[in-house]
Amino acid sequence: MPFGHDMVHALATVVELINTSPSTGGDDGLATLADLQSFVESREVSGISTLTPRDLGQVRIVREAFHRVFVAPDQPSAVRTLNSLLSETRITPRLTEHDGHPLHVHYFAPDATLAEHLAADCGVALAHLLVEGEHERLRTCSAPDCEHVFVDESRNRSRVYCDSRTCGNRMHVAAYRARRRG
Ligand SMILES: [Zn+2]
Ligand SMILES: [Zn+2]
Repeated sequence: MPFGHDMVHALATVVELINTSPSTGGDDGLATLADLQSFVESREVSGISTLTPRDLGQVRIVREAFHRVFVAPDQPSAVRTLNSLLSETRITPRLTEHDGHPLHVHYFAPDATLAEHLAADCGVALAHLLVEGEHERLRTCSAPDCEHVFVDESRNRSRVYCDSRTCGNRMHVAAYRARRRG
């Protein structure tokens, strides 16, 4: 996938955002404002002022909307779901150069809230991915007790686990034990 740095960054951000959701198994990773603050810092979301409980509520809603895009059963429903998210998002394309990155486009409005910022930039990144015919790269982990999402960036689209070191390794060990028993 020949995507620019912001596209790759936005896809990684939306994956990390969705995987904080209880809908993907486990506890809510965005339970408090402190959780939201550390998410913003770890994903280097720029231009964000003081976060409020309102931000937390809005980001949780956007998170579930993005999750629906990832688990959409086919491309047309992924397109419909993403279009409804984008239709509720103010988008202002703006050319920018920052932090040593080459000229690229930001999509969030200058006064965007955190939820709008995520919806705009992650939404546009997913739109490009769908336009490129890459819907099947939006995946959910195949480990039976894990429902984390990921973007399969492997050349032959063969990745099945959210993380090869955790779920991949766990399933590999389980399969090895099963073979030894058999
Ligand atoms: Zn940028
Ligand atoms: Zn997993």
